[in-house]
Amino acid sequence: MEWLHDFEWRRPIYFRQPNFRERLRQQTAYREQLPALRDEYRAGVPMLPLSRCPYCQTLNYLSFDHYGLDGLWWRSDERWRNGAQQQLCPHFWTLSGAVKLAEAVAIVPFRSAPGPEVPFVVPSALREHPLQVVISQIQVGAHTAYPIAYFSETKPLTLANPFPEWSTEWAVWVQEHNRYEWARAPYLLFKEQADFDLAPWMAQGRVAWIAPGDPSFTLQQQVQTCPYLDLPGDQEFVLITNGIVSSINQKL
Ligand SMILES: [Zn+2]
Repeated sequence: MEWLHDFEWRRPIYFRQPNFRERLRQQTAYREQLPALRDEYRAGVPMLPLSRCPYCQTLNYLSFDHYGLDGLWWRSDERWRNGAQQQLCPHFWTLSGAVKLAEAVAIVPFRSAPGPEVPFVVPSALREHPLQVVISQIQVGAHTAYPIAYFSETKPLTLANPFPEWSTEWAVWVQEHNRYEWARAPYLLFKEQADFDLAPWMAQGRVAWIAPGDPSFTLQQQVQTCPYLDLPGDQEFVLITNGIVSSINQKL
């Protein structure tokens, strides 16, 4: 994939090289295969129960690559998710998330934006609309991931400052009748939008949680017993580029 991008951008340079014709032939062949490869990957991304709706109690199944951060699902500049197959209740709004990274991160030729290491909410969104947030936990290869799902009882709704969907550079949300909308939402600005102090939101009934490994995905709201408060981990928003982990602050 990266090879194709590189070839497109630097075509005038490659043009002068003796193997240009061969490269061009290969590129054409890859280009033809690309839509099929894309469809194959999207179709193969697992559909997993990630969250439960606080309004109608439906378990929501989302397209999610839990095999590792090296899956294209995690790629931040393109969206490799199988939206059509998702089983969402009418209240599902968007998916955010965090990932506690294990020691080693796979080297893959794309950029991912898995979030900070600990769960957070976006206060501006919670103040603007009566959204409900549900935090859960799932293993992604060797890493521990925290899906943070947003639900809304009323739709359509619009946010003044849309925030990025998990590991992408777009805000993507689901309006009434499963209608998707999106907007550019730079990941680099995410830090200013995040609040890691979850307890007050939980006490107000705005954030619920599902215990790690709970097969029943039971929604809970007690602050005292919540396993997602004060977790060890960095609050920096992380980018992984070709296997190198950096914080967005380093990029600014
Ligand atoms: Zn629902």
